[in-house]
Amino acid sequence: MTTDPLNASRPTLEEITALAKRRGFMFQSSEIYGGIGGFFDYGPLGAVLKRNVKEAWWREMVTKRDDVVAFDASIVMHPQVWKASGHLDVFHDRMVDCRQCKHRFRVDHLPSREKCPDCGTTGSLTEPRNFNLMLKTNIGPMEDSASVAYLRPETAQGIFVNFKNIYQTARKRPPFGIAQMGKSFRNEITPGNFTFRMREFEQAELEYFVPHDGKDMERFHEWVALRKKWYSDYGIQADRLRFYELPADERPHYAVACTDVEYCFPWGWGELESIAHRGTYDLDAHMKLSGKDLTYFDEAAKEKYTPILIESSSGLDRTTLVMLVDAYAKERVLGTDGKESERVVLRFHPRIAPVSVAVFSLARNKPELVERARSIERGLRETFRTQYDEGNIGQLYRRQDEIGTPFCVTVDFDSLDDQCVTVRERDSMRQERINASQLERYLAERQGSIC
Ligand code: ATP
Repeated sequence: MTTDPLNASRPTLEEITALAKRRGFMFQSSEIYGGIGGFFDYGPLGAVLKRNVKEAWWREMVTKRDDVVAFDASIVMHPQVWKASGHLDVFHDRMVDCRQCKHRFRVDHLPSREKCPDCGTTGSLTEPRNFNLMLKTNIGPMEDSASVAYLRPETAQGIFVNFKNIYQTARKRPPFGIAQMGKSFRNEITPGNFTFRMREFEQAELEYFVPHDGKDMERFHEWVALRKKWYSDYGIQADRLRFYELPADERPHYAVACTDVEYCFPWGWGELESIAHRGTYDLDAHMKLSGKDLTYFDEAAKEKYTPILIESSSGLDRTTLVMLVDAYAKERVLGTDGKESERVVLRFHPRIAPVSVAVFSLARNKPELVERARSIERGLRETFRTQYDEGNIGQLYRRQDEIGTPFCVTVDFDSLDDQCVTVRERDSMRQERINASQLERYLAERQGSIC
């Protein structure tokens, strides 16, 4: 068999959402009640896909380094945290309403202020006003202003306010980093583009604290390079990714440097991650409002200082969506019978693929065959993420291609005599017959260690 790309064009958002639903990657939250805007659930394959993305991030950013420690803060924090961080006062988007159809829009998302983009009425939009993006709740039995609290709009503040607790207990001195993953909440005015802009989402953040030794800009650029390597190592196509260095007039006022990582989604470029040199802004702000000392005391030099902060802040749902979009390909396939057909294939990196090896029995009603295939699949489970299936081989391959499984192993009637199985590779569709006793090593060599 040979393949040739159907075309170089990108999948549409509709194709991605249809596949995500059909194969169980993502579902709209509370679908049976009509859904709720800006919230999504991950199905059986999507939950594993996202978990693999998180593990890939954690492995490179924490496990493989001796200068980064782990952290996990609570979602609800003291409201003063959001006062100090500026979220209470300035974390808002400018919003307008349409007086006619009652729809709401972010001013910076409007093509024009003349006419409502939904109902088309001219002159129906209100004057812009500020809309705070934090989701409110009440703590305890009283629903009054004293009990108001917020669901965190970013995970980073938990790290800043715990800086002293962490460096003292972990016995770390700058340069060192603190990493955490967790849910964040933003009451986005216009959630959309599938899981790109949600109201509940997950972030992976690294806060790297560095001394005032004149190497802070160098370290900032090192982090940008490391993050670039991460995307490339996990197979994201370089021409669909760009690293945009924000000029001074586009940077937040406290940022000394900032690079946004952007991906070319089906609707255009969108931010995946922001890498920023934040100076001492965050620790200074919390010291000022809390009156508590968050400086680092350097025992050797016998001096106190506020470390400089370099931040990498990524969205795990956006990264998971990128994995899906980037892996998607539609191809025309020429069969051995000379007939052409179309296949949809997700070319996931083996570490990211939700299923790494599928094992098939060629027939459903032959107990010996089924047992042999099931036993091979059980044996591989320790090392690989496996799935067992049986039936029509064409349909089985098609299903596994659509969920991005790198290898399929088929047990057929000959396997009972010669102890061999057929291994089919997803991208080239090449098939090789190998002895079942060599299978684990064969697969491990071809896709690296998966778990
Ligand atoms: P945008 O400009 O798209 O609203 P942002 O600049 O406000 O994003 P940051 O505050 O820098 O985003 O957050 C860091 C990362 O968190 C983003 O790069 C993104 O991956 C993720 N993120 C932010 N908002 C959302 C959201 N509403 N849904 C999903 N992920 C989000």
